[in-house]
Amino acid sequence: MSTDPAAELPFFYGCISRSDAEQHLKLAGMSDGLFLLRQCLRSLGGYVLSVVWNLDFHHYSIEKQLNGTYSIAGGKPHCGPAELCEFYSKDADGLVCMLKKPCLRSPDTPIRTGVFDKMRDNMLREYVKQTWNLEGEAMEQAIISQAPQLEKLIATTAHEKMPWYHGKINRQEGERRLYSGAQPDGKFLVRDKEDASTFALSVVYGKTVYHYQVIQDKSGKLSMPEGTKFDTIWQLVEYLKMKPDGLVTVLGEACVNGKVTEKTPSLPANRRAGPNGYTPPPRAVTVVPKAATAVPDSELLPMDCAGFNPYHNPNEIKKFNIQRDQLLMDEVELGSGNFGCVKKGVLRTDAGQIDVAIKVLKSDNEKLVKDEMMREAEIMHQLSNPFIVRMLGLCNAEHLMLVMEMAAAGPLNKFLSTNKDTVTVENIVNLMHQVSMGMKYLEEKNFVHRDLAARNVLLVNQQFAKISDFGLSKALGADDSYYKARTAGKWPLKWYAPECLNFHKFSSKSDVWSFGITMWEAFSYGGKPYKKMKGTEVGRFIESGSRMERPAACPERMYTVMTECWTYKQEDRPDFKKVEESMRSYHYSISSKAKPEEAEAAAEPTK
Ligand code: AMP
Repeated sequence: MSTDPAAELPFFYGCISRSDAEQHLKLAGMSDGLFLLRQCLRSLGGYVLSVVWNLDFHHYSIEKQLNGTYSIAGGKPHCGPAELCEFYSKDADGLVCMLKKPCLRSPDTPIRTGVFDKMRDNMLREYVKQTWNLEGEAMEQAIISQAPQLEKLIATTAHEKMPWYHGKINRQEGERRLYSGAQPDGKFLVRDKEDASTFALSVVYGKTVYHYQVIQDKSGKLSMPEGTKFDTIWQLVEYLKMKPDGLVTVLGEACVNGKVTEKTPSLPANRRAGPNGYTPPPRAVTVVPKAATAVPDSELLPMDCAGFNPYHNPNEIKKFNIQRDQLLMDEVELGSGNFGCVKKGVLRTDAGQIDVAIKVLKSDNEKLVKDEMMREAEIMHQLSNPFIVRMLGLCNAEHLMLVMEMAAAGPLNKFLSTNKDTVTVENIVNLMHQVSMGMKYLEEKNFVHRDLAARNVLLVNQQFAKISDFGLSKALGADDSYYKARTAGKWPLKWYAPECLNFHKFSSKSDVWSFGITMWEAFSYGGKPYKKMKGTEVGRFIESGSRMERPAACPERMYTVMTECWTYKQEDRPDFKKVEESMRSYHYSISSKAKPEEAEAAAEPTK
């Protein structure tokens, strides 16, 4: 699922040690500029470049920076490991020499997966299932949308799955376990310190057990006293298997904890292990979103909101007919349109209370408007995706009312223009990736939205977006790839692709064009597209081959996706499957990580 960005490179060896790297370089001839790339054992997401010069080895660590770029200390940033290596093959820029010849992996040397790589996918699933009580498609969507953040969370508890981790036992019990059975040098275990403040490492050497305290700094990084700092305890252990770093010996055989079970690792108890300092809030028991009180809104993951999967079994709550006495309507108006207004309310169900948005038809006599609302309800009724506003039902009382799940933070364009200072570009990429996931779902189900725009992307909170307003949407027939409108209506021309304007043809590909405009709105923090032009002028602008410029805050790679969405011929335009892939890969690549420090020093035995 989450592949390493270097996995495609023929000179990438994965998780191998420094001495293994040197062995490969020796076998390949030791010519000047011979190089290979390997996974960094210290920092999640980092690499090491090993280069030969003058019959000697040089190892450079490549750190993944907070903004998602990769760089060698003091060097230029690059958007990926491949780009970095290409750069240094043309310019030494501080290295001992230029990279001249890749040391290629032989067919019988597969990329060596790290200890965490092997368990990551299973752990992600178990973690999401247990923490957020998600299953099936909702679980898959949660994992895709938030994989980098989730990986960080689980990486911090992965040691609980390791055979050498013995939990909370005291020093004497540690010794007892190490002395039972054979006692080879390097046999070791890790335990929680008795006050649970950090870990302790117990190692056998010369039939004697030595105990070391693992130090934890203020940012949660772990090390031996004054030694190299690591994001997690299992990385420290892997490192100490190769380098004594002050211990009496390198770590060898694990003293196996017979009690390690297949249970899901627990949440970090005291945030000890959280490199991003994030502890998920407790899952709300009722379906009313309560999580918002536990963590700041800017840190909530979509899954923390009851709206991610408000009902275990959709059929329990999703009723087409809602009784009036189940519904409490607030005076607060969330917005309005030509049909009437949208009000805040609460829906009472057997499973609990749900905050809802209620679209109230203003005049039941206007048949056209009523039909339109019924069509919208019919479309929404068929859709179920975390990134699409769900309809919960219709209520026919004093007015016809369409009841939807609530997206309390409102339309994306307004949110961005009023929160410019607190919303980062990474945040926008995450939200637009979610929109692409919702649109990919629509494409798969053969629905065309026809009104995708930032005003119709509603936010549950700063980290969670949902597509709304299906007033113009159409379900295509199984054999149809587009919908042809007989006459032009009140259309959002600035969001429409050329084939919509010229031939009234609407498809998922024309939604892709609108997605590009929505991206432009998002990265310009709620700016108005083609500001100085009238809707009718935009057609001529597009026909002349012109396109909107890159908004100042928009990353180059996001502008590339945007301009691809504005490919004139719809057959050459990417579909949402492709767009979602591009959004996902960029989202994953820039998700921030903690930056490890460089210090290296020895630890003293405490015995
Ligand atoms: P619409 O005509 O569907 O675009 O709705 C008009 C306005 O009502 C939107 O721009 C939102 O401000 C608000 N609104 C609509 N649906 C919801 C919802 N599910 N949650 C919160 N606000 C909503």
